[in-house]
Amino acid sequence: MRDMRFDVVVVGGGHAGSEAAATAARMGARTVLVTHRRDTIGTMSCNPAIGGLGKGHLVREIDALDGLMGRCADRGGIQFRMLNRRKGPAVWGPRTQADRGLYKNAIQESLFALDNLEIIEGDVFDIDRSDTEIKSVILKDGRHIHAGAVVLTTGTFLRGLIHIGDRKIAAGRMGEDPSVGLSATLAKAGLRLGRLKTGTPARLDGNTIDWASLDSQAADADPTPFSFLTERITNPQITCGITRTTERTHALIRENIHRSAMYSGQIEGVGPRYCPSIEDKIMRFGDRDGHQIFLEPEGLNDDTVYPNGISSSLPEEVQEAFIHSIPGLESVRILQTGYAIEYDHVDPTELYPTLQVKSIPGLFLAGQINGTTGYEEAGAQGLVAGLNAALLAGGGAPLVLSRTDSYIGVMIDDLTSRGVAEPYRMFTSRSEYRLTLRVDNADERLTPFGMQVGCVGAERAQRFSAYQREMEDALAQLSTRTLSPTAASHAGIVVNQDGRRRSGLELLSYPGVDLDALRRVWGDLPSWQPKVRQAVEIHAAYSVYLDRQESDIAMVRREEGRVIPADFDYSGLSGLSNELKQKLGVARPWSIAQASRLDGMTPAALSLLIAHLKRAE
Ligand code: FAD
Repeated sequence: MRDMRFDVVVVGGGHAGSEAAATAARMGARTVLVTHRRDTIGTMSCNPAIGGLGKGHLVREIDALDGLMGRCADRGGIQFRMLNRRKGPAVWGPRTQADRGLYKNAIQESLFALDNLEIIEGDVFDIDRSDTEIKSVILKDGRHIHAGAVVLTTGTFLRGLIHIGDRKIAAGRMGEDPSVGLSATLAKAGLRLGRLKTGTPARLDGNTIDWASLDSQAADADPTPFSFLTERITNPQITCGITRTTERTHALIRENIHRSAMYSGQIEGVGPRYCPSIEDKIMRFGDRDGHQIFLEPEGLNDDTVYPNGISSSLPEEVQEAFIHSIPGLESVRILQTGYAIEYDHVDPTELYPTLQVKSIPGLFLAGQINGTTGYEEAGAQGLVAGLNAALLAGGGAPLVLSRTDSYIGVMIDDLTSRGVAEPYRMFTSRSEYRLTLRVDNADERLTPFGMQVGCVGAERAQRFSAYQREMEDALAQLSTRTLSPTAASHAGIVVNQDGRRRSGLELLSYPGVDLDALRRVWGDLPSWQPKVRQAVEIHAAYSVYLDRQESDIAMVRREEGRVIPADFDYSGLSGLSNELKQKLGVARPWSIAQASRLDGMTPAALSLLIAHLKRAE
């Protein structure tokens, strides 16, 4: 091949690698993506869906930094749903089921169109380096590709081993070879490696499912796009089926549990607690009234169905038997057996928050290799690693996102400061600042950073600047216009008759008051674009809570030194989630400062704890 020297080499064309390569190229770095197969770039290894609770925030943040995932999900999405819509916007979870083919094509087309990006098929086997710099990556066929910055995003491929009952297959994904050489390279370099596992369910032939007997779940009537750049969703939207496991299913799994790779001691890796296999669900949570299964079509022109909720590593014949015991699936044809996969990962405390390995200057790691699970977690890390690799190559200062500006910052801080004991996935409860880190304001939080470092393209920069101007205008107009209580009640807005004039912004925080109501008062208010209207209404609704959050934070700072009695009974603390009570009960923090560092602790929860301690004095 012609020129084998680049600024940045990205290894692996999964979700982390695609974002890393695209970001480095957008930043102007001469970038090469080396991956096993060009045609598998952007493949969804497991569930055909993007987003969800917490994960949807990551997609919006990737988009705000001009990454690919949001726009490609908009092009591939076939069932958009805003999860938690009935709760506040801080915990909304945008999600779409995706047509696997459309999503993959969208990622590939986006990458192939980038000017500074070359794509090479190959297996990266080793890295040539000195103590102070990376020299090149070495491919299995002997080729060397030179670059000073390398991003490894090898996913589940490092010494990947598939388990189906007692059958073992060395693979990175079903039908694809594992990556063996790089594991040895990383271990030889002294990095701490661990073993994790994940699993996937069987795939079903949708033509053989008895859909008519099942409940169903429809898409939202007005699908909300992920990307700031997408005006509207044009794909037709589909419906999913819903079924449940039965007593017979549970009995079959119990009878054969000793044959499950996970329960027969064949797997040493730790699995994702929040995404358990059906064996785990039955053994840990019992049969109760059955476990729900969503039957998700994998594409508009694809009859394959993904049964969400029954990943398994039982032998093929047991999977077949238990699947046939589920209503609607009695005669289903199984297209691919479910399996578990074990793989090596690197302890992420070996990394700086730039995702550069502390002991190997120039080497960055992103995605499942860092102990995370999920496309969104991988994509977000890929973007940060690609960005910092390009900054390093260009001699720029590194960019670190913090817990206060993004969920990406929360995730990277969690990974690099605490490490992982199980595959890490994102939840809104991991953030202390969820009132400020919302899906609706991801662009305002992050696009300015992106514009500053150069990872945001001209189209987004232009549209964002126009949006910002309108937003500033809206906030200025609504905070300077005021109404007396009498005028407010004449306009049908119920406020205390206390003589205090209220600004338009303040009035917007009253239940049932929206911009249309204010326009009836002030007929000359401009009609801002829909994104601005929504952002202003949410901003107003949240300002009360944000003020409260600030006073909570101030109180926590004042009370950090307060000691918590060793025998304090957390179970009696009303207002705290059971998960937090449990965490506090186990960790038994010595002081408020220590409690504040617990996973998922929020300023509001701490102020409740402080108030309780004060009362008990
Ligand atoms: P991947 O998407 O795995 O991509 C890695 C890429 O690197 C591949 O293109 C591969 O060909 C390439 N590559 C690897 N080694 C080399 C090398 N040496 N040289 C060149 N190229 C290389 N996530 C969930 O959120 N929920 C789930 O339930 C879930 N279940 C899963 C079940 C299975 C069986 C698998 C395999 C994954 C599952 N995941 C799940 C995880 C999800 O697929 C990953 O988190 C996500 O794909 C990780 O993205 P990544 O970019 O890190 O790696």
